[in-house]
Amino acid sequence: MNCKKLISKVESGIITYNEWTELRKELNFNVVRINVSPVVMGFTICKKNSNLIFIESDLSYEAEKETLIHEILHIYNKDFQKGKCLKSKEYLYSNPISCK
Ligand SMILES: [Zn+2]
Repeated sequence: MNCKKLISKVESGIITYNEWTELRKELNFNVVRINVSPVVMGFTICKKNSNLIFIESDLSYEAEKETLIHEILHIYNKDFQKGKCLKSKEYLYSNPISCK
């Protein structure tokens, strides 16, 4: 299954364990929950094409899903490799950290 279809499955809230594993392998990411701050919902650290997504642990289910998809789309769109400035749309999310 392609990544776009797998991401839409995350959005729908219904994804199998195998599909989730496939998406994580395809885009090379892992997810960690941490208690960061009330204004930061999530951020991603990208190092040598390996990505670690941090999600605030106090979020509601919907906010957690939204944050997760937001970060996955950054990885899918290769925003970190492009060195794209993401600040303008990063109001509730923290600024992603991109490592060359
Ligand atoms: Zn973002």
